[in-house]
Amino acid sequence: MSDPTARFAEIVGDHNLLTGDAIPDDYSHDEELTQPPQKPAYVAKPATAEEVSRLLVAASEGRIPVTARGSGSGLSGAAIPRQDGLVISFERMNAVLEVDTTNQVAVVQPGVTLTALDAATADTGLRYMVHPGELSSSVGGNVGTNAGGMRAVKYGIARHNVLGLQAVLPTGEIIRTGGRIAKISTGYDLTQLIVGSEGTLALATEVIVKLHPRLDHAATLLAAFADFDQVMEAVPKVLASGLGPYIVEYIDNMTMAALIHTQNLELGIPDAIRDSCQAYLVVALENRTAGRLGEDVERAGELLASLGAVDAYVLEGVSARKLIEAREKAFWTAKAIGADDIIDTVVPRSAMPKFLAGARGLASAAGGAAAGCGHAGDGNVHLAIICKDAAKRKQLMTDIFALAMELGGAISGEHGLGRAKTPYFLRLEDPAKVALLRRIKESFDPAGILNPDVLFAAGEA
Ligand SMILES: Cc1cc2nc3c(=O)[nH]c(=O)nc-3n(C[C@H](O)[C@H](O)[C@H](O)COP(=O)(O)OP(=O)(O)OC[C@H]3O[C@@H](n4cnc5c(N)ncnc54)[C@H](O)[C@@H]3O)c2cc1C
Repeated sequence: MSDPTARFAEIVGDHNLLTGDAIPDDYSHDEELTQPPQKPAYVAKPATAEEVSRLLVAASEGRIPVTARGSGSGLSGAAIPRQDGLVISFERMNAVLEVDTTNQVAVVQPGVTLTALDAATADTGLRYMVHPGELSSSVGGNVGTNAGGMRAVKYGIARHNVLGLQAVLPTGEIIRTGGRIAKISTGYDLTQLIVGSEGTLALATEVIVKLHPRLDHAATLLAAFADFDQVMEAVPKVLASGLGPYIVEYIDNMTMAALIHTQNLELGIPDAIRDSCQAYLVVALENRTAGRLGEDVERAGELLASLGAVDAYVLEGVSARKLIEAREKAFWTAKAIGADDIIDTVVPRSAMPKFLAGARGLASAAGGAAAGCGHAGDGNVHLAIICKDAAKRKQLMTDIFALAMELGGAISGEHGLGRAKTPYFLRLEDPAKVALLRRIKESFDPAGILNPDVLFAAGEA
């Protein structure tokens, strides 16, 4: 391609193409902690699928690497571009196209943020339930990472809530997958192949998401446990109780202390209990009526006591919201206290005690520490890793991921691999599986332009 700047500008218009010093630093990173920012050569802000298609055709011809960007809140370095590359930012494609209450779906452009989608559905009594802690994140980013979040224990992850896509292939073809339909058994499921592919296969230009009823009454129980293993043993019993909690999170005592301190939380937990507890379980319940909710809260309190909770506090209104928000912001707390890396490993729920004990043991053997919280109902463990020595830390991370995989888990439960975790994935994953993924990638993206450093060819961890 003779002059990429002129070609991209001709597609999106001069005002919607940034180059050189005009590119703000924001486009060079996401929120991941370890990967160096890289300023791209071009940032294009298309307004339509056709413009995305023409950008990808031009980039394929010129072999220019392309990184899609939603809100840049990802935690794996998947939105960090190549220095010679093109960022396609979906910030102008931010319309909620339709809220279809009959089919209980919303049809949205990828740049719509979760806050905007929530506002657009508020009057319908329905809601998009994928709820990663960062509500400035975009639906396109949720598609890219297969986002999870706290409500996944009841409502599932992005994969369960994305019913269809309009997507642009790197060759420029525009396809539609799935639809406003509850089921489909017609060939390979391309929607699900694209969800979670971290911008390496195709770019979503329209997303059909499932909506669920909003339940008006909610309460949160915070249960303190003296023994860490008791918390993990309580989780399956809470899930099997039929109470249908929409949040089941654990928070270890170090992390709770940091959340209380950094976010000025007032939870009313007596010092004696705080000092003697190893961990907390947060269980949030919701219902159609206050009466039914009240019955469920009472039952949950009894259950938690029978499972060994030292005490359980029922939080409503502001204090419940503050606790949930503090938990959502746990990443910022980990960053503020100097975490060197984070993991979001997933293991079978039954393996959580073994995994957590193993990970903490490995961290202390490496002269570091591992503390955190996580989506206990999903077996999704978020650990802040503190280990200043880079070489030791890489080995520690490798050992922790290897342990998770031995226990039947996976490196990432929801953040994705990005640039940060790809090297561990390539080191630890079955080579036959990686080779198959590579062949799938080649069939979507023959020129290899889409996010080439993610999943396959990133640098050293
Ligand atoms: C405080 C905090 C808490 C968080 N908590 C959670 C949590 O609980 N659960 C969770 O899952 N995540 C969590 N995250 C991570 C993050 O919010 C999610 O990964 C979110 O899905 C990223 O959306 P984004 O719009 O910021 O995407 P970006 O970071 O911009 O991009 C993420 C990936 O999606 C790709 N992408 C973007 N747009 C498209 C598109 N249109 N088509 C195809 N690919 C695309 C990008 O190339 C990249 O690979 C948290 C982040 C923060 C900062």
